[in-house]
Amino acid sequence: MILPTTERYNYHSHTEFCDGRAPMSGMAAAACSEGMEIWGFSPHSPIPVESGCNMQFEAVPIYLEEASRIKGEYEGRMKILTSMEIDYLSTEWGPHVDYFQKLPLDYRIGSVHFVMNQDGIPIDCDGRFERFNQRLKDSFRGDLRYIVEKFYEQELIMIERGGFDVLGHFDKISANASMVDPEIENTGWYQALVDDVIRHARDAGIIFEINTKAFNDKGRFFPNRSLWKELPDKSKGETLEGIIHKKILINSDAHYPEKVNCGRDEAIKLFHEEIINQ
Ligand SMILES: [Zn+2]
Ligand SMILES: [Zn+2]
Repeated sequence: MILPTTERYNYHSHTEFCDGRAPMSGMAAAACSEGMEIWGFSPHSPIPVESGCNMQFEAVPIYLEEASRIKGEYEGRMKILTSMEIDYLSTEWGPHVDYFQKLPLDYRIGSVHFVMNQDGIPIDCDGRFERFNQRLKDSFRGDLRYIVEKFYEQELIMIERGGFDVLGHFDKISANASMVDPEIENTGWYQALVDDVIRHARDAGIIFEINTKAFNDKGRFFPNRSLWKELPDKSKGETLEGIIHKKILINSDAHYPEKVNCGRDEAIKLFHEEIINQ
């Protein structure tokens, strides 16, 4: 995939093709006036279950056409990349399946938003806490640990199946789970799950993202800042400084034109502090 040669990039964004709040042209215009040099569109992929957040199958050709039109429009000013944030649901549906492998995309993001409940039904565990908390009770028999373990299991199987370049917000479940149990991220079992995901993603050569979408509202990045130092493969002599913007991308996951760079500058600044403190 095409890696950034500048800090003025974002590889993760949404538009009206899924749950974003502006057309592609509006997002591109905002990104360009913010001084972005590389802008990646990554609508939530189509999925074979009911979802208000995901792009419809019929819209995919229209999306690809519009992306190619905007690519031309911004040529020489801002590099436009065409991607998708592909939902991993099960071994039957994820970035690895033929449908996504055959789409002409510049790169692919693999993300877990849905977790299978005890009855094998995929439930969206992303999004607002109130909804998550209701689903925890109604769909998961109140078993928070079950959700968290399943979430990381989905991440691991998605990584094992492959077919994508960038691992989207790999500890996103921590936002909602820590609202139920504020200590969850300090438990040994939780940390073991996260370590496993990091190790497998590193070994598979997958690029991590630091997702800055929630930083202004929740003061939290995905992955959490406490995990950044774990991302380099020290056995191969990697350092944080060596892998920033190469094996780690800092993405805003913007859904609104006014948020194209939201949290990115703060993350980059904190990243440099982390490098100094290493
Ligand atoms: Zn996502
Ligand atoms: Zn996203």
